[in-house]
Amino acid sequence: MLAGVFLGLISAAPALAAPDGTLSISVSTGTPAMGDPVVVEVAANGAVDNLVLRWKGAAWPMREAAPGRYGGLIGVDLDDPEGPAVVAAEGFLDGARVRAEVEVTISPRKFAVQELTLPKGMAEFDNATLVRIGAEAAELSRRFSRATPPRWRIPFLPPVEEYRPTNFGARRVINGHPRMPHSAVDINLPAGTPVRTIADGRVAFAGEQFFGGRSVVIDHGGGVFSVYYHLKEFSVAEGQEISRGDHIGSVGATGRATGPHLHFGVRVPGGRVDPTRLFALPDR
Ligand SMILES: [Zn+2]
Repeated sequence: MLAGVFLGLISAAPALAAPDGTLSISVSTGTPAMGDPVVVEVAANGAVDNLVLRWKGAAWPMREAAPGRYGGLIGVDLDDPEGPAVVAAEGFLDGARVRAEVEVTISPRKFAVQELTLPKGMAEFDNATLVRIGAEAAELSRRFSRATPPRWRIPFLPPVEEYRPTNFGARRVINGHPRMPHSAVDINLPAGTPVRTIADGRVAFAGEQFFGGRSVVIDHGGGVFSVYYHLKEFSVAEGQEISRGDHIGSVGATGRATGPHLHFGVRVPGGRVDPTRLFALPDR
């Protein structure tokens, strides 16, 4: 099914070309759905200085794939509205300012609605706990806003050998109250199953959180992050450099989890995307 979704990418146009003194830009899909990652390619006949990718009001560095050819990864947040949006690249070529842009149309996607009934203690929190939850969320979003040089590569590697994702984007109604959509996938696996990182990067967070329990976040550069929650244990430390496929910990049920599983999420410039669609991006 996923192969079909990305067929358009596989048969994508030949290598981008740009007339002298200009930039050209192309995207892997012009009609991304909510939760979709989008690969951006920029080309010029020469090196572009201070090149940035502009998306949803922020600027991000791009990866130089070859002289005059650059790659970027952005996404449509699972909660974004449908409609038109503009992806742009800007920089300097031979001292002159250059810009290229392309319009995309964000298309809707239907997500499951899950009604859950949880014991009161798992669904309602006292003030001290609410303060802790707020502080942890603020600290993580501060780390997510850092742009480091891109180190990610396609293809990304699934975080576990048996990748069976569930729940992405699920709209949860807990004890009758609507909650934030589930922004990651849950993979049900026995406690102790090894977890590995999906791409090269640096450990941006390794610690204990109220919801996530033992949690690891890896910065893959260019605003691309992967998130691993409820770990039984983790074996990396903040600031540590790691390579694609490195062991980072094992599946557990720490934090707010009803049983052992890996809660695995991916954040790219623009928001939280469906990891399964990230793994389906073809080599380019
Ligand atoms: Zn989850």
